Amino acid sequence: MKILINGIQSNLRFSSAHIIPGHPSCGHIHGHSYFVDVEIDGDRAGEFDFVVDFKDVKAYTKAICDTLDHRLLIPVQNDLIEFKDFIKYEDSIEKLEDAGSVHFKVDGKGYSIPSDDCVFLDLPYTSAEELSKYFADELVKELSKKYDNLFELSVCVNEGIGQGAMYTKEFVE
Ligand SMILES: [Zn+2]
Repeated sequence: MKILINGIQSNLRFSSAHIIPGHPSCGHIHGHSYFVDVEIDGDRAGEFDFVVDFKDVKAYTKAICDTLDHRLLIPVQNDLIEFKDFIKYEDSIEKLEDAGSVHFKVDGKGYSIPSDDCVFLDLPYTSAEELSKYFADELVKELSKKYDNLFELSVCVNEGIGQGAMYTKEFVE
């Protein structure tokens, strides 16, 4: 049986800025008011015969939303972003977080931003596609700690109303 949580109605939202390096329009810093839908397939189980407690799914999803909210999302693995004093795949992301301010270039344009205003994600892009995969990975990890009756989870990260990317991930024993 499946459960579905509607992000806009359940307040699973975040507002963030991002850049898609190299893209003609999305290559400029801009923002979205995102919302996140979650669908989970599993057996009904436990004391209440739930697939999963809605409260848990909402709390875990909201916690991820809160880490991204009101920040500039920076995809650390992106090939077109050249960081100053940071070696990709070698240095740990904490180095950027602890730096005070971060300096990088995209297509020759230079950016200097306080680290505190950014979230550094171990991703190649901060597209809806990559963010939905990121949410799905984190949610499967978190839900697996408490539930062993779940098969599959899908997350749709919506960049505002009308467009979103959905990623599906299986729970593995
Ligand atoms: Zn965008």
